[in-house]
Amino acid sequence: MSNTIEKLKAMPKEDAIACAEDVLLHTYNRYQIILEKGEGMYLYDSEGKKYLDFCAGIAVFALGYKNEKFNNAVKDQVDKLVHTSNYYYNFPSIAAAQKLTKAARMDRVFFTNSGTEAIEGAIKTARKYAFNKDGRTDHEIIAMNHSFHGRSMGALSVTGNPHYQEAFRPLIGGVKFADYNDLDSVKALVTDKTCAIILEPVQGEGGIYPAAEEFLKGLRVLCDEKDILLIFDEIQCGMGRTGEMFACQRYGVDPDVMTVAKALGCGLPVGAFLVKEKAASLVAGDHGSTYGGNPLVGAAANAVFDIFEEEHILDNVRETGSYLYEKLEAVAKAHEEIVDHRGVGFMQGLEFSVPVGPIVSKCIESGLILISAGADTIRFIPPLIARKEHVDQMVEILESCLKK
Ligand SMILES: *Cc1c(COP(=O)(O)O)cnc(C)c1O
Repeated sequence: MSNTIEKLKAMPKEDAIACAEDVLLHTYNRYQIILEKGEGMYLYDSEGKKYLDFCAGIAVFALGYKNEKFNNAVKDQVDKLVHTSNYYYNFPSIAAAQKLTKAARMDRVFFTNSGTEAIEGAIKTARKYAFNKDGRTDHEIIAMNHSFHGRSMGALSVTGNPHYQEAFRPLIGGVKFADYNDLDSVKALVTDKTCAIILEPVQGEGGIYPAAEEFLKGLRVLCDEKDILLIFDEIQCGMGRTGEMFACQRYGVDPDVMTVAKALGCGLPVGAFLVKEKAASLVAGDHGSTYGGNPLVGAAANAVFDIFEEEHILDNVRETGSYLYEKLEAVAKAHEEIVDHRGVGFMQGLEFSVPVGPIVSKCIESGLILISAGADTIRFIPPLIARKEHVDQMVEILESCLKK
């Protein structure tokens, strides 16, 4: 169809990559492969090489590639209506909102175009909630060290990684950082200005650290006592990845505000922040988005929830996730340089005593797509349809690369 795409395809791979490097901003050090298509658990590059995918586009593509029901839902909607703006209603997004609020046990939702925008909405929700109470504009947020919430100025401000923040100061004010899983370190930062505590129930980018149950329960009690909003960032750990629809449900702790993205649209750009009724502080004029929740992404998210149910995705994550856990335990035991194994379901990590970059590169060369979390942890976040045979195949390739 497009001449330019055909021309790029006809070039040697190195030349097409050189074209990319001529025009793209160099914010990523990319692997030297061009991915062209996918099917189930596998991806194929421009040279026809097949890869087993244990990354899922960073915890996004939950359903497996070329899922027929998902693709048809999106194709049907493309031919009906892609975009309307938020001045009108559309059926797919009403349906998606019903399913998402029910699954998350939250009351209301605002659709965004990304995870980072969902975090922005959560921060604004907290500030407005506190403003409504006392009319002041000096409210504080407590976030966690080693957290990741996104790259926009607000999301970056609550991301506990000084390396990402340094060049972009001044960030938004009033953010303090506590230690994850250390309730006393949070309590020590609470003042009468604190409006929110934000954290991931399982830290993703920071290295796959699940919350301790006492920690989440303690935060819930603390927030109730002081009327502080508890914000759970479920962007990576939510949508079934831990074997529950949302990770916080494993702990029986509900937040006041929840953020979701990644697997919500399975590759179509849709995120959301959800609130309990008491935290529905944003009203007409306070917030908006031109694209957010358009019919196309609504149809995608709606289909994702249907397919989760029809294909018993959560059951598979629990069952195959336990199998993955056993297998990775064995890998950890067999290699001295592996110092820790953490996580649950299809969100697990192996921490090494050496940088994992070269291991990940070797795996990709050997036809296994993996991703790191920080410098020394390999992350295992496959599509949620992975079966035991895929786990076995992954472990075989990983083992052979570790031996080299
Ligand atoms: C990926 C991620 C984000 C940011 O989402 P984007 O869609 O990249 O903006 C925020 N929080 C967590 C926990 C994430 O994993």
